[in-house]
Amino acid sequence: MRRLRAALAVAMMGACSAAMPASMAVQASTADFRIDGPLIQGGAVLATAPAGTRTLTLDGAPVRFAADRRFLLAFDRDADASAELVATLDGGRRVVRTLAIAPRAWRIERLDTLPRVSQPSAEFQRRRPPELARIAAARAQSNDIAGWRQRFIWPTTGRISGLFGSQRVYRGEPGSYHGGVDVARSTGTPVVAPADGVVILAAASDFTLEGRLLMLDHGMGLNSAFLHLSRIDVREGERVRQGQTIGAVGATGRATGPHLHWGMKWNVARIDPLLLAGPMPRD
Ligand SMILES: [Zn+2]
Repeated sequence: MRRLRAALAVAMMGACSAAMPASMAVQASTADFRIDGPLIQGGAVLATAPAGTRTLTLDGAPVRFAADRRFLLAFDRDADASAELVATLDGGRRVVRTLAIAPRAWRIERLDTLPRVSQPSAEFQRRRPPELARIAAARAQSNDIAGWRQRFIWPTTGRISGLFGSQRVYRGEPGSYHGGVDVARSTGTPVVAPADGVVILAAASDFTLEGRLLMLDHGMGLNSAFLHLSRIDVREGERVRQGQTIGAVGATGRATGPHLHWGMKWNVARIDPLLLAGPMPRD
């Protein structure tokens, strides 16, 4: 996966302390796991389970896999340095692989001031719980779609104005980190599906923070969220193809200017879309 490695190089620029795994640990034997790329905080790789695998777990949590034993492995921004991947085979034998997950150096901004805390309005407090419930229900869906196997493309191209994982620390108190990648583009710029997917949420009206929110399920627990859209061109339940226009950039919800915020999750792990889409193509 040359493209992923190139993306890692981009993501790690200015972060020379992050160590790359020495080997890609690819093994030909069908008796063991085959893992097709480096393991890194916020990253995702495709892998193949040993022949005869009946169940698969990562640190005890079930991991889905396809009939051809292919599966996705992804690591949260704050993933521990190691994780245990276990396949239980027909007949009960276990294949255990201890994975080393490379750390990333996140962009941390330390401020001597206190955060600007704005008291949530009564309207926000009323509207927020049902919005969060809708997002959780969308993510809980499991669709038979193989977008997770594809090389992802950028939903829109342009200047990256916000990095995944960046965080402000106010007088030692960490604020929440940025959960996606921002691409600055003008309102109305088309947004395309980065991979095949099923539309799991298409907001008919603006969410308080996310604005006009669109979410896609790429299968195997991998999903994308597109925030602040000015327009959504697809409906819930619709299957979309990689490259298909699904909406347009906007500044709806809590946004200071028009941009696309693209967030991704794999099961409970928050991951960095930049590592899946690779370096931003030049216009
Ligand atoms: Zn953002």
